[in-house]
Amino acid sequence: MFARISRIPAVFLLALGAQTALAGDVQSVRFWDADDHTRVVFDVSGPVHYKLFTLENPDRLVLDIARSRVSKSLDGSALEGAVQRVRTGRQGTDTLRIVLDLDRGVQPKSFLLPPADKFGHRLVIDLFDRASAPRVVKREDALGVGGGERDVIVSIDAGHGGDDPGASGANGSREKDITLAVAQALAARVDAEPGMKAVLTRDRDFFIPLKRRYEIAREQKADLFVSIHADAFAKSQARGSSVFVLSGRGASSEAARMLADRENTSDLVGGVSIDDKDATLAAVLLDLSQGATMQASEVVANNVLRGLARIGNLHKREVQRANFVVLRSPDVPSMLVETAFISNPAEEKRLNDPTHRDKLADALVEGIRDYFATTPPPGTWFAANPQRPRHHVVARGESLSLIAQRHRVSVASLKRENELATDQVDAGVVLKIPTAI
Ligand SMILES: [Zn+2]
Repeated sequence: MFARISRIPAVFLLALGAQTALAGDVQSVRFWDADDHTRVVFDVSGPVHYKLFTLENPDRLVLDIARSRVSKSLDGSALEGAVQRVRTGRQGTDTLRIVLDLDRGVQPKSFLLPPADKFGHRLVIDLFDRASAPRVVKREDALGVGGGERDVIVSIDAGHGGDDPGASGANGSREKDITLAVAQALAARVDAEPGMKAVLTRDRDFFIPLKRRYEIAREQKADLFVSIHADAFAKSQARGSSVFVLSGRGASSEAARMLADRENTSDLVGGVSIDDKDATLAAVLLDLSQGATMQASEVVANNVLRGLARIGNLHKREVQRANFVVLRSPDVPSMLVETAFISNPAEEKRLNDPTHRDKLADALVEGIRDYFATTPPPGTWFAANPQRPRHHVVARGESLSLIAQRHRVSVASLKRENELATDQVDAGVVLKIPTAI
């Protein structure tokens, strides 16, 4: 859950060691306009000691930085998002005051970033739109005119790319190439299914920042987002597939957390820095509708995991939860598939085999198809042509009556088919769906 911040208390926020004599001049300012927030990045010469607060009528954000100066005038020509104007002045003898004039009320969130890659110290302020709590976007505009049956859109994301090769195998395979090959095999398989259409976040070898990947999925009006990766571990024996969904509270295990950090650091390469610690704390702006998206993600991830179990080893027998940036769409069910361990020579070899990649794609698409058959988005081919999935994997928190309702069968027939004595079912159990109601 996201604790709503109405005002940042006007106290000095300290970071990077209170003992240090903090001083940092502001060298430049950069802006990005995101879906639900504006990111403002101040490049500073060192760690700074700052406080910030918002004011209304008109809306503005005031930033005071102790013992600081502006080294040259802040260029406001690249203003974006909520920021209309940047003004600077002095507060007392040694405090630099920066005022951002805003066109809306915001909830600010700020943090300091240490030098990384080509960047030095940075003070980052994210201005979240106060009115825009994440919500499930209604996609009427994607339904087509005249009530036609649209295809469900599956956004397929080949992990890494460009400057970011991802992990590498003992025999020289690069994760970014493997993920693209698997993504293309999956796209071909998806396009061959009735009622489904694949779109790729990348079809060549280039870099896409993590956040941009899920933004692309949302722009594509995707009904599902699948990010493809290949795992790596220090021990070459590690093997098998894993499927991840977003965790609200951070990673479900230390290993998952490490993995999340590793996958997330690629943003440092592309120029947009995302502070992992802060990202974990922020843990996405969760609300009820995002809860529904996460539940849907878990259902489809369970389906896919079951498919993967049929063709090879599983690294983890349950769907894992981690704080992956790419899974953060508030309104698109999303999962990340670690297809196999590129660091395991046997699995590296299989990942390079087009026949095996097709098998992987088959396993993934079967899980995806079952998901859409179970919960067809309104206005789609799946909604107009009810498909009965053959199996249902029980997700966390699902009751037998909910499952029965979803598949339009009775609880009694579900119990009979699966020889269940009680109404209790555990997460991860695969239920057969009766053909007769
Ligand atoms: Zn990866």
